[in-house]
Order: sequence, then C-alpha cells, then structure tokens
Amino acid sequence: MALNVPQVRTNTIRRAGSSSSIGNTIEHDNELAPVTPRSRRNSADSANPVPIAGPTSPALTRPTTQHRTDKTTIYGGKAHKAVLFDTRRLMEKSAYFNKMLSETPEPTAEQTTYEDADETSLAIYAAWIHGKKLRGPSDFHSTGHYLGLYVMAGKFGSEALMNDVIDLVRDYYAQGGLTAPPYRLQYIYTFTSEPNPMRKFLVSTAAWRSMYGGEGISDAMKEVLGDKTLAVDYMQALIVLGKDDSKDPRKGSHCSWHTHYDTKTCPFETSEPWQ
Ligand SMILES: [Zn+2]
Repeated sequence: MALNVPQVRTNTIRRAGSSSSIGNTIEHDNELAPVTPRSRRNSADSANPVPIAGPTSPALTRPTTQHRTDKTTIYGGKAHKAVLFDTRRLMEKSAYFNKMLSETPEPTAEQTTYEDADETSLAIYAAWIHGKKLRGPSDFHSTGHYLGLYVMAGKFGSEALMNDVIDLVRDYYAQGGLTAPPYRLQYIYTFTSEPNPMRKFLVSTAAWRSMYGGEGISDAMKEVLGDKTLAVDYMQALIVLGKDDSKDPRKGSHCSWHTHYDTKTCPFETSEPWQ
C-alpha cells in the first residue's frame, strides 16, 4: 500500500530576504534536507518479517471481536517506530483503517508500516485517535509536524482531524501574523494530490504577503511557482485578495476551511479575540 505520507523535512529553497512587516512575518525557516517525493511501498523493508506464532489451539486463542485484536500497531518512519492504537477507536476515526482492518483483521507488521510517515506526526495522530485534545503548532518544527499530520489525516481518511489541524494552523498563523514560506507550499502541493483547504490556505497567506508584505514576489516564490497547479491557485488567491483586502485567510470563519464529506457541518462558529 503506497501511502506516501512524507517526512516533514522539506525545504529546498532558501528564503530570499526576509519580510518582517507587522502581520506579514514569513514563517521562520532553516536548513533542511531537500524534498524527495517518494511513492514507496509502505514497507520496502520486508527483511523484517513479523514473528509468526506457532500453531495455537482454539482453546488458547485470546477472544477477539470478530477475530480482531484489541490493539493495532502502526510503524512509522525509517526506524519503524511502533505506535500502539486501540483498534476500535482507530476504526471509528479512520476510514482507511476501518476498511483495512475489516478486510484484514490481523494485519502483518509490513501491512501497517509507513516508512514515509513522520514519526512525530504519527504520535500526534495516535493522541488524536485516543481522544486527546491537540495543542497545535507553536514553532517552526511543530508546524512541520502538523502539516505532516494534515497529510496523514487525508491519507488515513480522518476528515475531522484535517478540520482540527487547519483550525490550529490558521490560529497559529493568525496569532503570529505569519505567512507560509515557499517550501511549505512546495510541501503541501507535493504530498497531497487533490485540491484541499490546506493548500488553499497556505497559498493564500503567500499571496497576502506579496500584496501587503511589501515584498512583491520573492525569487524563492518564483521558483515554486514553476508548479503549474500551485501557480494557478496562487494567481486565484491574488485575485481574491485584490478585490477585497479584508479577506485575510488567517482570520474569520473556521468552517469555511473545513470539508464535511464524512463529518457533520459545524453547528456554529465562535470568534477568537484576535479575529
Ligand atoms: Zn466545519
């Protein structure tokens, strides 16, 4: 199963100059490894077979619900870090695992290994599956993990989590007056294949920076605009902002940045003090 859930180390592009206008601070970047879009199998390393238990008499078999084990282990990253999930909750909150574990109630380790997954994003995913409230990003690194989590939530069919994550990222950007640097755009366009609210949000903040940040279009930005889909979205965002400068993508309605194909529409909206 090729999931292509990426690591978060993504930037190839150096920031050209810095924008520090109030309300248009480009999110901090640093020297990270280049993007390597990969579409490996979820475990290319099949040299690690699951230990297979010897024959077990039916009387000794642990009782399970429909032959399903209570816990499911998912392995993330190159180091195959094991993260334990409550099977029932995982199936309730992930359409992908609901299908997989219905068809394959006792998957092998290889079937639940995602080498391209960011380990930290996977750990946050587990916290969310088990009902923990997410705090959201607080700095450059955690923003990367949250974007990795957004991609993961999309791949694993957890729409409610996608909606939670974009709320948290938008709030973080709004509070810090941040805008997305080009490599964040490159990341989200590389590792998601369909139009989605996070693409739209990040590209809108970059357009905002170009229009109101006094920077124009930086060289690094021109470089990522070589991606045609990204370029079209960016131009559309510029047009929207050009018509109405009150449309700061970081502020206002949460629900207009959600999708509700599998989840119920938000009943009401609350505004935060900074909005
Ligand atoms: Zn909503």
